[in-house]
Amino acid sequence: MPSTQTAVRPAYRPYSAEVARSVRLSPHFVRVTFTADEFEHFGTARLDQRIKIVLPHPDGTFSDFGQDEGAGDWYDRWRALPHAERNIFRTYTVRRIDPDSRELDVDFVTHHDAGPAGAWAEQAVPGQQLIIVGPDARSPLSAGGLDWHPGTARRVLLAGDETAAPAITAILELLGDEYDVDAFIEVPTADDVLDVRHHETARLTWLPREDRPHGARLIDALASWADASGEVLARAAAPRRQLVDDIDVDLELLWDSPDPADGEFYAWIAGEAATVKTLRRMLVSERGVDRKRVAFMGYWRLGQAERIE
Ligand SMILES: Cc1cc2nc3c(=O)[nH]c(=O)nc-3n(C[C@H](O)[C@H](O)[C@H](O)COP(=O)(O)OP(=O)(O)OC[C@H]3O[C@@H](n4cnc5c(N)ncnc54)[C@H](O)[C@@H]3O)c2cc1C
Repeated sequence: MPSTQTAVRPAYRPYSAEVARSVRLSPHFVRVTFTADEFEHFGTARLDQRIKIVLPHPDGTFSDFGQDEGAGDWYDRWRALPHAERNIFRTYTVRRIDPDSRELDVDFVTHHDAGPAGAWAEQAVPGQQLIIVGPDARSPLSAGGLDWHPGTARRVLLAGDETAAPAITAILELLGDEYDVDAFIEVPTADDVLDVRHHETARLTWLPREDRPHGARLIDALASWADASGEVLARAAAPRRQLVDDIDVDLELLWDSPDPADGEFYAWIAGEAATVKTLRRMLVSERGVDRKRVAFMGYWRLGQAERIE
């Protein structure tokens, strides 16, 4: 009997890409521009659009997990491979996508406790091959992979460390002047401050860490911001006292990304998991902000490689 069901094109698919160029933006940021014919179909939402960067095996090859077909079931196929044949992948953010010129920029943080992705970016040269799993603009589900959900809010707080800089700067560039924004980005050094175009209604503060521990400047900055923003926080208060789960960030993923909702205030916070956990406690448990108004995302964990489930 003929099937009456039409398969829905999956939200994400692999793209076989090549390095077009690589530019060191600052001591700890490398921008790699990728090109692929198929980028004409790449989703253009930007914002905090997440992608997977699939790295080659040490001999430069890739196992077959459907990349040549742009297979939407790439992950199941990858999982079905013997462990040693699974190419390593890591999570990154679209910094810029131009389907017309078939170019995609990714800003990689290069960190001293090097992992495969950071180390790959350090040595990226034109012509190198890599696979990027990203949104398929032809899919009705292509709005997935975004955690920026301000709903009706126009008073916005953005905060994160250097790994969240690509998302925060992309969001800032896209927001109109109807948004009243405070943004804070902690970076390793003063030389890592990047140029960003944004409206005057957004106030962006860079926080060079220099010799201080990771997250310390961001935590201090948000505490000062909260002290000075009593009225904003009062309007964003939860109707009753909220308990937040005491997540062990060494064992569990810290990811709390509420759906779009009505309300004046929205906060988006991402970066190293222990820092994000401290900021979550500060805003939700101590300052009483409604947790439905705040997205908290542990992008990585100090001392731990990204866990691939
Ligand atoms: C949704 C999402 C979007 C992201 N977007 C970006 C992005 O656009 N750019 C970006 O650079 N990162 C981004 N990240 C973070 C990135 O996935 C992690 O930093 C990842 O661990 C890097 O992989 P790796 O192979 O270099 O290191 P891993 O093999 O995962 O880790 C090796 C070691 O390096 C440490 N480490 C990992 N990252 C850092 C760091 N930034 N600074 C210091 N030490 C570190 C780990 O703690 C571990 O000890 C994003 C993460 C998520 C979840």
